[in-house]
Amino acid sequence: MDIVQKVAILSNAAKYDVSCSSSGSKRDSYPNGIGSGALSGICHTWSADGRCVSLLKILMTNYCIYDCKYCHNRKSNDIRRAFLTPKEIADLTIEFYKRNYIEGLFLSSGIIKSPDYTMELFLKTAEILRYKYRYGGYLHMKIIPGASKILVEKIVKLADRVSANLELPSEKSLSIYAPDKSRKEIIKSLDTVLKYNLSNEQNNSTSTQLIIGATEETDREIISQSEVFYKRSLLKRVYYSAYIHVNSDLPALNTEPPLLREHRLYQADFLLRFYKFTSDEIFSKRNNLDELLDPKLRWALDNYHLFPVDINKADYSMLIRVPGIGPKSAKKIIAARKFGYLGIEHLKKMGVQLKKSEYFMILNGKKIRNSVGDLVEREIMKFTKANSPIFKILGAD
Ligand code: SF4
Repeated sequence: MDIVQKVAILSNAAKYDVSCSSSGSKRDSYPNGIGSGALSGICHTWSADGRCVSLLKILMTNYCIYDCKYCHNRKSNDIRRAFLTPKEIADLTIEFYKRNYIEGLFLSSGIIKSPDYTMELFLKTAEILRYKYRYGGYLHMKIIPGASKILVEKIVKLADRVSANLELPSEKSLSIYAPDKSRKEIIKSLDTVLKYNLSNEQNNSTSTQLIIGATEETDREIISQSEVFYKRSLLKRVYYSAYIHVNSDLPALNTEPPLLREHRLYQADFLLRFYKFTSDEIFSKRNNLDELLDPKLRWALDNYHLFPVDINKADYSMLIRVPGIGPKSAKKIIAARKFGYLGIEHLKKMGVQLKKSEYFMILNGKKIRNSVGDLVEREIMKFTKANSPIFKILGAD
Protein backbone atom coordinates (compact mmCIF):
# COMPACT_ATOMS: atom_id res chain seq x y z
CA MET A 1 0.00 0.00 0.00
CA ASP A 2 1.50 3.39 -0.90
CA ILE A 3 1.62 6.40 1.41
CA VAL A 4 -1.29 8.16 -0.31
CA GLN A 5 -3.58 5.17 0.27
CA LYS A 6 -2.43 4.92 3.89
CA VAL A 7 -3.10 8.62 4.48
CA ALA A 8 -6.55 8.30 2.89
CA ILE A 9 -7.47 5.41 5.22
CA LEU A 10 -5.97 6.86 8.39
CA SER A 11 -7.19 10.43 8.02
CA ASN A 12 -10.68 9.11 7.31
CA ALA A 13 -10.49 6.86 10.38
CA ALA A 14 -9.54 9.88 12.55
CA LYS A 15 -12.64 11.90 11.69
CA TYR A 16 -14.72 10.44 14.54
CA ASP A 17 -12.51 12.03 17.18
CA VAL A 18 -13.54 15.61 17.94
CA SER A 19 -11.25 16.20 20.91
CA CYS A 20 -8.99 18.36 18.76
CA SER A 21 -12.00 20.71 18.48
CA SER A 22 -12.66 20.11 14.81
CA SER A 23 -16.31 19.48 14.20
CA GLY A 24 -18.07 17.01 11.94
CA SER A 25 -19.84 18.08 8.79
CA LYS A 26 -21.93 16.16 6.29
CA ARG A 27 -21.55 18.67 3.49
CA ASP A 28 -19.98 16.94 0.52
CA SER A 29 -18.46 18.58 -2.55
CA TYR A 30 -20.80 19.91 -5.29
CA PRO A 31 -20.42 18.58 -8.85
CA ASN A 32 -17.58 20.62 -10.39
CA GLY A 33 -17.48 22.58 -7.11
CA ILE A 34 -14.67 23.37 -4.77
CA GLY A 35 -14.18 22.06 -1.21
CA SER A 36 -15.90 19.43 0.89
CA GLY A 37 -16.81 19.83 4.55
CA ALA A 38 -17.23 16.06 4.89
CA LEU A 39 -13.72 15.12 3.90
CA SER A 40 -11.11 14.28 6.46
CA GLY A 41 -7.42 14.97 6.76
CA ILE A 42 -7.00 18.66 7.53
CA CYS A 43 -9.08 20.21 10.29
CA HIS A 44 -8.87 23.20 12.61
CA THR A 45 -8.39 23.93 16.23
CA TRP A 46 -7.87 27.01 18.42
CA SER A 47 -4.63 27.65 20.21
CA ALA A 48 -4.49 29.04 23.77
CA ASP A 49 -4.13 32.59 22.42
CA GLY A 50 -7.24 32.22 20.23
CA ARG A 51 -5.58 31.63 16.85
CA CYS A 52 -7.23 29.21 14.45
CA VAL A 53 -4.69 26.53 13.55
CA SER A 54 -5.05 24.08 10.66
CA LEU A 55 -4.05 20.53 11.56
CA LEU A 56 -3.15 17.29 9.88
CA LYS A 57 -5.55 15.02 11.75
CA ILE A 58 -4.56 11.42 11.42
CA LEU A 59 -4.31 8.06 13.15
CA MET A 60 -0.99 6.25 13.36
CA THR A 61 -2.99 3.11 12.73
CA ASN A 62 -6.59 1.98 12.62
CA TYR A 63 -5.60 -1.49 13.84
CA CYS A 64 -6.78 -1.93 17.39
CA ILE A 65 -6.63 -4.69 19.95
CA TYR A 66 -9.77 -3.33 21.64
CA ASP A 67 -13.36 -3.79 20.59
CA CYS A 68 -15.29 -0.72 21.74
CA LYS A 69 -18.87 -1.13 20.57
CA TYR A 70 -19.26 2.47 19.33
CA CYS A 71 -16.07 2.52 17.26
CA HIS A 72 -15.64 2.14 13.53
CA ASN A 73 -12.03 0.96 14.00
CA ARG A 74 -12.73 -1.77 16.59
CA LYS A 75 -11.03 -5.10 16.01
CA SER A 76 -14.22 -6.99 15.08
CA ASN A 77 -15.03 -4.67 12.13
CA ASP A 78 -13.97 -5.87 8.71
CA ILE A 79 -12.36 -2.69 7.35
CA ARG A 80 -9.18 -1.79 5.45
CA ARG A 81 -6.34 -1.23 7.88
CA ALA A 82 -3.12 0.73 7.55
CA PHE A 83 -0.14 1.82 9.62
CA LEU A 84 2.21 4.79 9.37
CA THR A 85 5.65 4.66 10.97
CA PRO A 86 6.78 7.52 13.24
CA LYS A 87 9.13 8.69 10.49
CA GLU A 88 6.38 8.64 7.86
CA ILE A 89 4.14 10.76 10.10
CA ALA A 90 6.95 13.18 10.91
CA ASP A 91 7.85 13.50 7.22
CA LEU A 92 4.24 14.10 6.21
CA THR A 93 3.89 16.78 8.89
CA ILE A 94 7.02 18.59 7.77
CA GLU A 95 6.14 18.35 4.07
CA PHE A 96 2.60 19.66 4.66
CA TYR A 97 3.94 22.35 6.97
CA LYS A 98 6.47 23.56 4.40
CA ARG A 99 3.74 23.72 1.76
CA ASN A 100 1.65 25.81 4.15
CA TYR A 101 -1.19 23.26 4.19
CA ILE A 102 -1.06 22.90 7.97
CA GLU A 103 0.26 24.54 11.12
CA GLY A 104 0.12 21.48 13.34
CA LEU A 105 -0.46 17.77 13.85
CA PHE A 106 -3.21 15.95 15.73
CA LEU A 107 -2.13 12.38 16.24
CA SER A 108 -4.28 9.59 17.62
CA SER A 109 -4.27 5.84 17.11
CA GLY A 110 -5.86 2.49 17.65
CA ILE A 111 -4.02 0.48 20.28
CA ILE A 112 -1.23 -1.71 18.92
CA LYS A 113 -0.04 -4.52 21.20
CA SER A 114 -0.42 -2.45 24.40
CA PRO A 115 -0.90 1.15 25.59
CA ASP A 116 2.85 1.43 26.31
CA TYR A 117 3.85 0.13 22.88
CA THR A 118 1.54 2.63 21.18
CA MET A 119 2.77 5.51 23.32
CA GLU A 120 6.38 4.62 22.57
CA LEU A 121 5.62 5.03 18.86
CA PHE A 122 3.92 8.38 19.60
CA LEU A 123 6.94 9.47 21.57
CA LYS A 124 9.24 8.49 18.74
CA THR A 125 7.15 10.59 16.33
CA ALA A 126 7.29 13.60 18.67
CA GLU A 127 11.03 13.20 19.18
CA ILE A 128 11.74 13.03 15.43
CA LEU A 129 9.65 16.16 14.91
CA ARG A 130 10.98 18.19 17.82
CA TYR A 131 14.63 17.06 18.00
CA LYS A 132 15.57 15.87 14.53
CA TYR A 133 13.49 18.24 12.38
CA ARG A 134 13.49 21.09 14.94
CA TYR A 135 9.74 21.40 14.42
CA GLY A 136 8.25 24.11 16.64
CA GLY A 137 4.68 23.90 15.32
CA TYR A 138 1.53 22.84 17.15
CA LEU A 139 1.40 19.25 18.34
CA HIS A 140 -1.67 17.57 19.83
CA MET A 141 -1.19 13.95 20.89
CA LYS A 142 -3.53 11.41 22.36
CA ILE A 143 -2.64 9.90 25.72
CA ILE A 144 -3.41 6.20 25.79
CA PRO A 145 -4.87 5.36 29.21
CA GLY A 146 -2.96 2.55 30.87
CA ALA A 147 0.40 3.74 29.52
CA SER A 148 3.15 4.19 32.07
CA LYS A 149 3.61 7.51 33.85
CA ILE A 150 7.05 8.15 32.43
CA LEU A 151 5.80 7.83 28.83
CA VAL A 152 2.85 10.13 29.51
CA GLU A 153 5.19 12.74 30.99
CA LYS A 154 7.59 12.57 28.06
CA ILE A 155 4.71 13.13 25.63
CA VAL A 156 3.34 16.03 27.71
CA LYS A 157 6.77 17.65 27.62
CA LEU A 158 6.85 17.64 23.81
CA ALA A 159 3.18 18.32 22.96
CA ASP A 160 1.15 21.54 23.12
CA ARG A 161 -2.07 19.75 23.88
CA VAL A 162 -2.89 16.23 24.99
CA SER A 163 -6.22 14.49 25.26
CA ALA A 164 -7.46 11.31 26.87
CA ASN A 165 -10.97 10.40 25.84
CA LEU A 166 -13.47 9.56 28.56
CA GLU A 167 -15.59 8.33 25.61
CA LEU A 168 -18.77 7.50 27.51
CA PRO A 169 -20.42 9.59 30.20
CA SER A 170 -20.43 6.98 32.99
CA GLU A 171 -18.34 4.15 34.36
CA LYS A 172 -21.27 1.78 33.87
CA SER A 173 -21.60 2.60 30.15
CA LEU A 174 -17.86 2.34 29.65
CA SER A 175 -17.78 -1.10 31.23
CA ILE A 176 -20.61 -2.28 28.94
CA TYR A 177 -19.55 -0.70 25.66
CA ALA A 178 -15.77 -0.44 26.03
CA PRO A 179 -14.94 -3.26 28.43
CA ASP A 180 -11.20 -3.10 27.61
CA LYS A 181 -11.03 0.48 28.89
CA SER A 182 -10.90 1.57 32.46
CA ARG A 183 -12.24 4.90 33.65
CA LYS A 184 -9.79 4.75 36.53
CA GLU A 185 -6.89 4.53 34.07
CA ILE A 186 -8.26 7.45 32.01
CA ILE A 187 -8.48 9.65 35.12
CA LYS A 188 -5.03 8.49 36.22
CA SER A 189 -3.58 9.66 32.88
CA LEU A 190 -5.26 13.07 33.23
CA ASP A 191 -3.93 13.31 36.77
CA THR A 192 -0.38 12.56 35.56
CA VAL A 193 -0.71 15.37 33.00
CA LEU A 194 -1.97 17.81 35.66
CA LYS A 195 0.83 16.97 38.11
CA TYR A 196 3.47 17.20 35.40
CA ASN A 197 2.15 20.61 34.32
CA LEU A 198 2.12 21.88 37.89
CA SER A 199 5.58 20.67 38.84
CA ASN A 200 7.14 21.89 35.57
CA GLU A 201 5.22 25.15 35.31
CA GLN A 202 3.98 23.95 31.95
CA ASN A 203 0.52 24.77 30.73
CA ASN A 204 -0.21 21.89 28.40
CA SER A 205 -3.88 22.02 27.59
CA THR A 206 -5.95 18.86 28.18
CA SER A 207 -9.18 17.86 26.51
CA THR A 208 -11.48 14.89 26.24
CA GLN A 209 -14.28 13.61 24.08
CA LEU A 210 -17.64 12.36 25.35
CA ILE A 211 -19.88 10.49 22.97
CA ILE A 212 -23.46 11.67 23.36
CA GLY A 213 -26.60 9.74 22.53
CA ALA A 214 -25.17 6.22 22.35
CA THR A 215 -26.01 5.53 25.99
CA GLU A 216 -28.74 6.60 28.33
CA GLU A 217 -27.14 9.23 30.61
CA THR A 218 -29.10 12.46 31.08
CA ASP A 219 -27.73 15.91 30.25
CA ARG A 220 -27.53 16.60 33.98
CA GLU A 221 -25.26 13.57 34.48
CA ILE A 222 -23.07 14.61 31.55
CA ILE A 223 -22.67 18.26 32.55
CA SER A 224 -22.20 17.43 36.26
CA GLN A 225 -19.36 15.18 35.26
CA SER A 226 -17.69 17.89 33.16
CA GLU A 227 -18.06 20.25 36.11
CA VAL A 228 -16.12 17.87 38.36
CA PHE A 229 -13.28 17.59 35.82
CA TYR A 230 -13.11 21.38 35.36
CA LYS A 231 -13.11 21.96 39.13
CA ARG A 232 -10.27 19.52 39.63
CA SER A 233 -8.39 21.19 36.71
CA LEU A 234 -8.07 17.79 35.08
CA LEU A 235 -9.49 19.15 31.84
CA LYS A 236 -9.49 22.47 30.05
CA ARG A 237 -12.14 21.41 27.61
CA VAL A 238 -14.74 18.68 27.13
CA TYR A 239 -15.85 18.02 23.56
CA TYR A 240 -19.31 16.53 23.14
CA SER A 241 -19.61 14.31 20.10
CA ALA A 242 -23.06 13.33 18.82
CA TYR A 243 -22.96 9.57 18.33
CA ILE A 244 -22.69 8.49 14.71
CA HIS A 245 -24.42 5.19 14.22
CA VAL A 246 -21.48 3.28 12.74
CA ASN A 247 -22.11 -0.17 14.20
CA SER A 248 -25.45 -1.95 13.92
CA ASP A 249 -25.10 -3.84 17.21
CA LEU A 250 -25.04 -0.77 19.43
CA PRO A 251 -28.51 0.15 20.66
CA ALA A 252 -28.30 3.80 19.67
CA LEU A 253 -31.07 6.04 20.98
CA ASN A 254 -31.22 7.85 17.65
CA THR A 255 -30.07 6.75 14.25
CA GLU A 256 -29.36 10.35 13.25
CA PRO A 257 -26.51 11.94 15.24
CA PRO A 258 -28.20 13.99 18.02
CA LEU A 259 -26.63 17.25 16.86
CA LEU A 260 -29.08 19.57 18.59
CA ARG A 261 -28.42 17.86 21.91
CA GLU A 262 -24.70 18.22 21.30
CA HIS A 263 -25.23 21.96 20.63
CA ARG A 264 -27.24 22.49 23.84
CA LEU A 265 -24.57 20.63 25.85
CA TYR A 266 -21.91 22.97 24.47
CA GLN A 267 -24.06 25.94 25.53
CA ALA A 268 -24.46 24.49 29.05
CA ASP A 269 -20.72 23.79 29.20
CA PHE A 270 -20.13 27.44 28.27
CA LEU A 271 -22.30 28.47 31.22
CA LEU A 272 -20.12 26.36 33.51
CA ARG A 273 -16.81 27.71 32.24
CA PHE A 274 -17.51 31.36 31.51
CA TYR A 275 -20.62 32.27 33.50
CA LYS A 276 -19.73 30.24 36.62
CA PHE A 277 -23.11 28.54 36.72
CA THR A 278 -23.16 25.28 38.67
CA SER A 279 -24.69 22.17 37.16
CA ASP A 280 -27.24 22.17 40.02
CA GLU A 281 -28.38 25.62 38.92
CA ILE A 282 -28.60 24.72 35.22
CA PHE A 283 -30.64 21.62 36.04
CA SER A 284 -32.59 22.99 39.00
CA LYS A 285 -35.89 22.10 37.32
CA ARG A 286 -34.99 19.39 34.81
CA ASN A 287 -32.66 16.51 34.00
CA ASN A 288 -32.33 17.26 30.29
CA LEU A 289 -31.76 20.57 28.55
CA ASP A 290 -34.68 22.20 26.79
CA GLU A 291 -34.31 21.65 23.06
CA LEU A 292 -36.34 24.74 22.15
CA LEU A 293 -34.61 27.35 24.32
CA ASP A 294 -30.95 27.96 25.07
CA PRO A 295 -29.96 26.90 28.63
CA LYS A 296 -29.40 30.43 29.94
CA LEU A 297 -32.82 31.68 28.86
CA ARG A 298 -34.40 28.46 30.13
CA TRP A 299 -32.72 28.97 33.50
CA ALA A 300 -33.92 32.59 33.69
CA LEU A 301 -37.51 31.49 32.95
CA ASP A 302 -37.30 28.68 35.50
CA ASN A 303 -36.06 31.21 38.07
CA TYR A 304 -38.15 34.18 37.06
CA HIS A 305 -38.67 35.11 40.73
CA LEU A 306 -35.03 36.36 40.74
CA PHE A 307 -35.85 38.96 38.07
CA PRO A 308 -36.05 41.77 37.08
CA VAL A 309 -32.52 42.79 37.95
CA ASP A 310 -31.63 46.43 38.52
CA ILE A 311 -28.80 47.02 36.05
CA ASN A 312 -27.49 49.95 38.07
CA LYS A 313 -27.25 47.97 41.30
CA ALA A 314 -26.93 44.22 40.65
CA ASP A 315 -23.65 42.45 41.35
CA TYR A 316 -21.58 40.78 38.63
CA SER A 317 -22.84 37.25 39.28
CA MET A 318 -26.46 38.37 38.80
CA LEU A 319 -25.72 40.61 35.81
CA ILE A 320 -24.23 37.71 33.85
CA ARG A 321 -27.32 35.64 34.62
CA VAL A 322 -29.47 38.09 32.65
CA PRO A 323 -30.14 36.59 29.17
CA GLY A 324 -28.44 38.84 26.61
CA ILE A 325 -25.68 40.02 28.99
CA GLY A 326 -22.34 38.24 28.77
CA PRO A 327 -19.19 38.47 30.91
CA LYS A 328 -17.72 41.27 28.77
CA SER A 329 -20.78 43.50 28.87
CA ALA A 330 -21.34 42.77 32.59
CA LYS A 331 -17.80 44.02 33.30
CA LYS A 332 -18.40 47.11 31.15
CA ILE A 333 -21.64 47.83 33.04
CA ILE A 334 -19.92 47.62 36.41
CA ALA A 335 -17.06 49.86 35.26
CA ALA A 336 -19.35 52.44 33.61
CA ARG A 337 -21.96 52.82 36.34
CA LYS A 338 -19.35 54.26 38.70
CA PHE A 339 -19.66 57.41 36.60
CA GLY A 340 -23.43 57.71 36.50
CA TYR A 341 -26.76 56.05 35.92
CA LEU A 342 -26.91 53.79 32.86
CA GLY A 343 -29.74 53.93 30.34
CA ILE A 344 -30.74 51.95 27.25
CA GLU A 345 -28.36 53.85 24.97
CA HIS A 346 -25.38 53.01 27.19
CA LEU A 347 -26.30 49.33 27.21
CA LYS A 348 -26.62 49.27 23.42
CA LYS A 349 -23.12 50.69 23.06
CA MET A 350 -21.78 48.03 25.43
CA GLY A 351 -23.04 45.23 23.21
CA VAL A 352 -25.91 44.10 25.46
CA GLN A 353 -28.51 42.11 23.51
CA LEU A 354 -31.55 44.17 24.43
CA LYS A 355 -33.96 41.96 22.52
CA LYS A 356 -33.48 39.40 25.28
CA SER A 357 -32.25 41.30 28.30
CA GLU A 358 -34.99 43.96 28.34
CA TYR A 359 -37.43 41.33 29.67
CA PHE A 360 -35.30 40.74 32.74
CA MET A 361 -34.11 44.17 33.82
CA ILE A 362 -35.02 47.36 35.65
CA LEU A 363 -33.58 50.65 34.43
CA ASN A 364 -34.05 53.89 36.34
CA GLY A 365 -36.46 52.20 38.69
CA LYS A 366 -38.72 50.89 35.91
CA LYS A 367 -39.32 47.46 34.44
CA ILE A 368 -38.90 47.67 30.68
CA ARG A 369 -41.07 44.71 29.68
CA ASN A 370 -43.79 43.09 31.72
CA SER A 371 -44.32 39.75 30.05
CA VAL A 372 -41.77 37.30 28.66
CA GLY A 373 -44.43 35.57 26.54
CA ASP A 374 -43.49 37.27 23.27
CA LEU A 375 -39.77 36.60 23.84
CA VAL A 376 -40.43 32.88 24.36
CA GLU A 377 -42.68 32.79 21.29
CA ARG A 378 -40.02 34.55 19.19
CA GLU A 379 -37.24 32.23 20.39
CA ILE A 380 -39.32 29.11 19.70
CA MET A 381 -40.19 30.44 16.24
CA LYS A 382 -36.49 31.08 15.58
CA PHE A 383 -35.66 27.55 16.69
CA THR A 384 -38.46 26.00 14.62
CA LYS A 385 -37.38 27.88 11.51
CA ALA A 386 -33.72 26.95 11.98
CA ASN A 387 -34.62 23.29 12.40
CA SER A 388 -37.31 22.98 9.77
CA PRO A 389 -36.10 21.04 6.71
CA ILE A 390 -37.62 23.57 4.29
CA PHE A 391 -35.87 26.51 5.98
CA LYS A 392 -32.62 24.54 6.06
CA ILE A 393 -32.87 23.97 2.30
CA LEU A 394 -33.74 27.61 1.59
CA GLY A 395 -31.19 28.88 4.08
CA ALA A 396 -33.82 31.34 5.37
CA ASP A 397 -33.34 33.11 8.68
S1 SF4 B 1 -9.52 1.83 21.71
FE1 SF4 B 1 -11.69 1.58 21.26
S2 SF4 B 1 -12.28 3.62 20.50
FE2 SF4 B 1 -10.04 3.53 20.38
S3 SF4 B 1 -9.62 2.77 18.31
FE3 SF4 B 1 -9.66 0.99 19.64
S4 SF4 B 1 -11.75 0.22 19.48
FE4 SF4 B 1 -11.74 2.32 18.74
